[in-house]
Amino acid sequence: MSDPSESGDSSSSGVTYLENILPAPKQLHMGLFEVRRELGSGSFGRVFLARHLESGFICALKVLIKTEIAARASEKHVRREIEVHSNLRHPGILGFYGWFHDETRVVMILEYAVGGELFDLLVKSKHFSEPCAARYIAQITMSLAYLQQKHVIHRDIKPENILIGVHGELKLADFGYSIHSPGNSRETVCGTLCYLAPEMTLANPRYTNAVDQWALGVLTYELLTGHSPFDDASSAITPIRIRNLDMPPLPSSVSPEAKHFIHSLLVLDPAQRLPLKDALVHPWILKHAAPSR
Ligand code: AMP
Repeated sequence: MSDPSESGDSSSSGVTYLENILPAPKQLHMGLFEVRRELGSGSFGRVFLARHLESGFICALKVLIKTEIAARASEKHVRREIEVHSNLRHPGILGFYGWFHDETRVVMILEYAVGGELFDLLVKSKHFSEPCAARYIAQITMSLAYLQQKHVIHRDIKPENILIGVHGELKLADFGYSIHSPGNSRETVCGTLCYLAPEMTLANPRYTNAVDQWALGVLTYELLTGHSPFDDASSAITPIRIRNLDMPPLPSSVSPEAKHFIHSLLVLDPAQRLPLKDALVHPWILKHAAPSR
């Protein structure tokens, strides 16, 4: 396989290469891969562990079934996932190596995240210690800061969409709801209810990339307590609860610095939410996840 990390002109199969320097890539198709086992399934298909036969390169193949995409009228959604994800390159973001399609399938060639979903680790651990949660949140904050710099809003930050790499590092994944928005003002409601920012739950929503900062606050709460603030077992999640900031108080075992971090992100006014660059130097993050640690 040609070096998928290079960028340059796009071929019709979506693989990028540097013309005149690297040989033109071979047309990609399923026959080039040995498909090993299923890693998981999503809305329109399944993800498989695979090996590129010629190079031995191990990757994940996300195989979407065209009839299922069409049945849900989600062509735009898939096109957007490919467009956004293929333009991102960051250690905290799941690698996107290329894509192709045949008569029945659309296939994305992705970095294999050997540790699986953060969600499964959280369920197994019940909740994370403060140092562990702070290190995870620092990594996700850096990935989100990169997205904001590229004018991308993820819109579906949650533990199910965060994968774990070979060294235990986090990889932000699933760009199905993401949008490249240089104007930074959107109106479409999407994502997962208990992570939705209050401004997204209004009758006529208008929102910016600050919705990802809200979701970061929800994620921090969840990593420290094991449950989302707006999805506790006691009551239903309603947009009104989100808009009223009606969430169970954080347990006394959570430090004042962590509480301050969460309450600086779960702010109703999007303009007043802690900016990501400030989140990275927040005392809670610095205490547990300073670069020297
Ligand atoms: P998705 O369709 O992207 O939501 O993926 C469905 C599930 O497959 C995920 O929730 C993960 O459990 C698994 N999965 C997806 N991509 C990968 C990957 N690159 N490496 C390992 N597991 C993955």
